[in-house]
Formats: sequence, structure tokens, C-alpha cells
Amino acid sequence: MAQALLIRGGRVIDPSSRLDTRADVLIEDGRISQIGPGLKARGAEVFDAAGCVVTPGFIDLHTHLREPGREDKETIATGARAAAAGGFTAVCAMPNTTPVNDSASTTRFIVETAKREAIVHVYPIGAITRGSNGEELSEYADLKAAGCIAVSDDGRPVQNARVMRRALEYARTFNLPVIDHCEDLDLSKGGAMNEGPVSVAMGIPSAPAVSETIMVERDVLLAEYTRSHVHIAHISTAGAVDAVRRGKARGVRVTAEATPHHLVLTDEAVRAHDYDPITKMNPPLRSEEDRQAVMAGLLDGTIDAIATDHAPHTTEDKVCEFDCAAFGIVGLETAFALCHDVLVRSGALDLNRLVQLLTAGPARALGLPGGALEKGRPADITIFDPAESRKVEPESFRGKSRNSPFVARTLVGWPVATIVDGVIVFRSR
Ligand SMILES: [Zn+2]
Repeated sequence: MAQALLIRGGRVIDPSSRLDTRADVLIEDGRISQIGPGLKARGAEVFDAAGCVVTPGFIDLHTHLREPGREDKETIATGARAAAAGGFTAVCAMPNTTPVNDSASTTRFIVETAKREAIVHVYPIGAITRGSNGEELSEYADLKAAGCIAVSDDGRPVQNARVMRRALEYARTFNLPVIDHCEDLDLSKGGAMNEGPVSVAMGIPSAPAVSETIMVERDVLLAEYTRSHVHIAHISTAGAVDAVRRGKARGVRVTAEATPHHLVLTDEAVRAHDYDPITKMNPPLRSEEDRQAVMAGLLDGTIDAIATDHAPHTTEDKVCEFDCAAFGIVGLETAFALCHDVLVRSGALDLNRLVQLLTAGPARALGLPGGALEKGRPADITIFDPAESRKVEPESFRGKSRNSPFVARTLVGWPVATIVDGVIVFRSR
């Protein structure tokens, strides 16, 4: 049994209960036992949170852990350590591993490995179709029974609308959300960055924003028709945000997430990094107009969560010509600092809303546990220092990969402690 822990003197923010006050938090037997001013607990370990903010543990809806199959890029253990360093107490693991997680046995492997080796909660996502081949549906009853919390063919999105319709209908039976990486692969074929003036100037093959928007429109219509829940992964275009907004307005069960990089960068970053594939990801960095539309979606509630799309790659996969490089960047360890530094400090986003987008927002979007500070509930808690200024240094990454375009950038506002089930699994001071 974990020792009692008293988090003393912090600003406690829990958007799920509209709490924003100076208070202590007492944890006993792994659970939150009291929240209030001037708490005393004989024999408890004390964490001095003066100057810090205490919130529910962050939840990442979109993580690539690479295990099984590409343990050279990341493992369940190292991905979980990266998550903890970024303030995340839970991550949802995408199924595009080797083998693809389309079966109860692979799901069980992930659940059991995580239980043994991961310092944060790991929620597996199963594949929509067998092998993510876009044709035959996986067995959702088995996936759910083994521990999957959603299904997705992220990375190899379902192109056939009939298959997607069947997936939504079948998933609804088991109350599983269908997460879609929205991309029309014919429209985007060969594209390595966003289509626009920058791709033309640089001569890099490109994919148009409409290749994402058209699939979001399809999914919203299919979710409406089947009365099922679709969750739009890493939304990045103005048209896609508009489609989700209209869908929500007429009662469609559609939720959406946005990544930190699509909120703070545009395709101008590809030019600024001078053909370095460190800015190559899928969906690609979009135009300033798209970035602003995603930001507006965050502010008006169209977008439910910020998710990292943490995509670790080896140096060999990333250091080559732009066209040939792998898509994706790591994100768990910089997500909070980046959003806090660029969005909150500039006044673009309220601190309470940022916390909500990392806690209650994702929990509610996919029906996950956590996301709130409640007496009697397991103590999953994040503590960050909004004034800590630190440079992003890849040598300090807990994850295995180093592919981040934010290296060497100084950011203000960092997680200082992460607590899972009452145990401090990360602390920087
Ligand atoms: Zn994706």
C-alpha cells in the first residue's frame, strides 16, 4: 500500500467541477481522501506545490507505443515514462503495431506488458479491420473483452464507405467509439506536405486539405445515419472543423481531438526548417487559416481534447530526403509545455480550458476513467509549474526517439510531478 501523500499549497484546478482554488490534496491508499485548505496528515509524505498548479492527470487519446514490433523506436515501458514526464497519467495506444492489434491476444499482450512495465495507465485501441487492411471487420466483442477502449485504423484509414458504415454499426453494439484518421488516400497520394504556396515554392509533393475534410464530412454523415459515435483524430483543416461543428449542432455523436503541433505551427515551419523532415507529419502542418480554424474549434467546444499523436521514429527513418522520410514526431514530453507557452501565455487559450482539454475533455470524449479530482477516486494527478522555463533537450527525453521539431526551443510551464494511483511516478524536483 502506498504511503499517504500530502500535496501542499498548490493552486488546484479541476475543470470538471469548476474548481480553481488554493488548496491541499491528501492521498491515502492510492485514492484522493481530502481536498481543502490547511490539511494535516501525520506521517504523510509532503510535496511542496507552492507556486504550482495541481490538476487531474492528463490523458492522451493518441499515442503510438510501437510495441509489439518496433521496440527500437519505443516500448510500452519507455512510452509510459515519456508520458509521465509530460504529465500524462494515461495514454491510449494506437493499434498500428506489428502485428496490428486486431485480436484479443495482442490486446492482452499490451495490457499485461503495461501492467508489468508501464508507470502510467495504458488503454489499447483495437483495429477497425483485420490487419487494418480496410476490408474485413475485426472481432469487436473480443477486443472489448480483452481491454480495448475504441477501434481505429489510424495510419491506414478505412477508404470504403460501406466498410466504415458496418464498422460504426458493429462498434455501437459494444459501445466502442470508432476513431478515424480522416484521409482520402487517392486525393493525398504521394503528398509529403500540405498543398499550398509553400509546397509550390519548395517543390515538395503535396496533399490538399480537402483530402482530410472530405472524409470528416463522410464520417459525420455515417455517424448520423448509423447513430454511432465517431471520433475524429488529429483534426487539422478549417473544413473539417466546420463539418464537426455542424454535426454537433444537429446532435451527431461526433467528437474530435487536435494536436499541439497543428495548434502552434503551420506549413511555413517546413520552409523554416529548410527541407528537414522533422516537420513531416500526417496530417501535415497546414495553412495559417487552418491553424486559426482549429484554434477557434478549441475555443468554442467543437474540439473536445488535445492529443499528442506521439509518433516515435529512429534517426534512420527521419534523417533522409523529405519525400522518403517517415511521417510523425514525438509529442508526449513537450505537449503541455508547448500549449502552455505558446497558447496560454499569449492569451489565446485560458489555462482552465487547456487543463480541461487534457483531462475531462479526453475522458469524456472516449468514456475513459479519470479526468477529475474526486474524493474516493484513484489519485491520478499532475502538478506543473507555470513559471518554469526550460529548453527542450532531446538528451533528457525519457522516450526512445528524438524526432521533435521543438528541440532547442525554450518553453515556459512544465510538469514537475506525475502521480498515478497515489504513487509519484515522475518528479523533476
Ligand atoms: Zn493518424
